[in-house]
Amino acid sequence: MEFCDLKYQYSLYKDEILKRIDEVLNKTSFINGHEVKLLEQKISVFLDNDTEAIGCSSGTDALLVALMALGVKPGDEVIVPNYTFIATAEVVSLLNAVPVFCDVDPSTFLINVDMIENCITKKTVGIIPVSLFGQCADFDEIGKIADKYDLWIIEDGAQSFGASYKGRKSCALSSVATTSFFPAKPLGCYGDGGAIFSKDSMITGRIRSIINHGQSKRYIHTSIGINGRLDTLQAAVLLVKLDHFTYEIELRKKVAELYTKYLNSLVSTPTILPYNSSVWAQYTIKHILRDEIQASLNEVGIPTSIHYPIPLNSQEAFYYLPSKDLSFPASEKVSKEVLSLPMHPFVEEKNIEKIACVIRGIV
Ligand SMILES: *Cc1c(COP(=O)(O)O)cnc(C)c1O
Repeated sequence: MEFCDLKYQYSLYKDEILKRIDEVLNKTSFINGHEVKLLEQKISVFLDNDTEAIGCSSGTDALLVALMALGVKPGDEVIVPNYTFIATAEVVSLLNAVPVFCDVDPSTFLINVDMIENCITKKTVGIIPVSLFGQCADFDEIGKIADKYDLWIIEDGAQSFGASYKGRKSCALSSVATTSFFPAKPLGCYGDGGAIFSKDSMITGRIRSIINHGQSKRYIHTSIGINGRLDTLQAAVLLVKLDHFTYEIELRKKVAELYTKYLNSLVSTPTILPYNSSVWAQYTIKHILRDEIQASLNEVGIPTSIHYPIPLNSQEAFYYLPSKDLSFPASEKVSKEVLSLPMHPFVEEKNIEKIACVIRGIV
């Protein structure tokens, strides 16, 4: 059994993918090729027709560039959930700004909106809510806080591209949003890739310049930027996968429903808020016997993963921050109990039954 079955997915789309790749190779348009533009247009239509999509080199670079485009300076404070992948906070530190960790809701794993105001100081400039495991954070409520204190919001949608919130698509919900096309994400390419989103043409103009060395024209550099472009080959792969994505999301939902049916009497199954439609980047259960469950599944060849074993404030990289000694009860508890099960569009019911059977033997 595979945790994320990319081999089977490739077997389904192989002819289309090879054709697209062959076209790029023949044109040798490896940088800023036609496929990148086309992908950006198709993604914009997929979202809402109104949000501009800009391909970039990874989900991490997407966050970095978003912060640069918003003018984040050394010493600025940015509120991030304490329970997420490190990239969300790492980029804040890279710019010598200060990640301020906010605890999460233990049932949804999303930033605890009621705790955000306690994190705000005179130095706060913005909030990066993460739409973790495939479901969106509560952007209407976070938006009210942002408006009250004049803060920007970047949605870290690395795991939620394809999800929706109150009928609107993830990555079209905030002033700026980012996603990742890392192979194992719901929409993944064959290497690193990502995208940045905004409806504000001032911001998207800056973003396009920053990902291309702060260039305004060829060899004319008006700001400090990075090499943060999306490869044409990755865009070619994504064009094929995007065509099948809506169908894959439906399959992911069916897999999640089956998991919940088989597991909800045994362990704590994911809580999806009523206004959310998750894209199921992960199917993450919680149980105090997490380590025993993981070991037993491993024994019978079922791969699992712990997203995430250590809250960010307790990561050595962030020991330099005062949050090292603060307490984040929900992040601490959740990180000891979570276990992500195999999740991709093609998980078979018989394997879900097998997983349920192993778990039943323990709990
Ligand atoms: C994967 C991920 C990222 C980083 O994306 P990369 O493409 O791997 O750089 C950022 N934030 C979250 C929440 C992620 O899951």
